Amino acid sequence: MNNDIERTLYSVEDIKEAAHRLGQQLTEDYQDKRPILISVLKGAILWTVDVMREMDIMAEVDFIDVSSYHGGVASAGEIQLVHDLSADVAGRNVIIMEDIIDTGRTLQFLIDLLKQRQAKDIKVCTLLDKPEGRVVAAKADYVGFKLPKEFVVGYGLDYKEFYRNLPYVGVLKPSVYEGDRPE
Ligand code: 5GP
Ligand code: MG
Ligand code: MG
Repeated sequence: MNNDIERTLYSVEDIKEAAHRLGQQLTEDYQDKRPILISVLKGAILWTVDVMREMDIMAEVDFIDVSSYHGGVASAGEIQLVHDLSADVAGRNVIIMEDIIDTGRTLQFLIDLLKQRQAKDIKVCTLLDKPEGRVVAAKADYVGFKLPKEFVVGYGLDYKEFYRNLPYVGVLKPSVYEGDRPE
């Protein structure tokens, strides 16, 4: 698995620092607000647990699964709800936990859904943000790292469902993609 990585973009240490920084920020911003973290499966699992254990406040966590990429490296544009929340978000302070924001379509879909369900306040905490990829205006409030338009894997992020368990974020060797080109 590690042999397939061309270079590391964010090391275990880099990510740990980002989780600590944002966890502290959220602790300050959400005192007494009892937020509910909405972790977007599957990519945001590692990020969610690492940030939440840095949050020294009362907070809930729930999970939602949406699909947009259908396994490859290019966004399909269509978002589908694959697994819904178990919590009722009406009147709640919600923090969407994302792995990466590219076109912004997934995030916009989630924001629209949560607004429709009467969430009181919706903020977004993402490990990675690719601002150049945006096709809709959705914005993150808490960002680990901004990166250029590049396809990355690791720390929750997959290529064809693999590499999620790499503890760091990196770029795959072009040979791994075969005919399937990254964006
Ligand atoms: P968006 O809807 O913003 O275009 O894309 C959001 C989703 O696409 C992310 O949650 C993630 O699952 C996937 N995605 C976007 N960029 C990347 C990337 O560089 N690497 C991987 N593995 N997935 C990505
Ligand atoms: Mg995601
Ligand atoms: Mg994916």
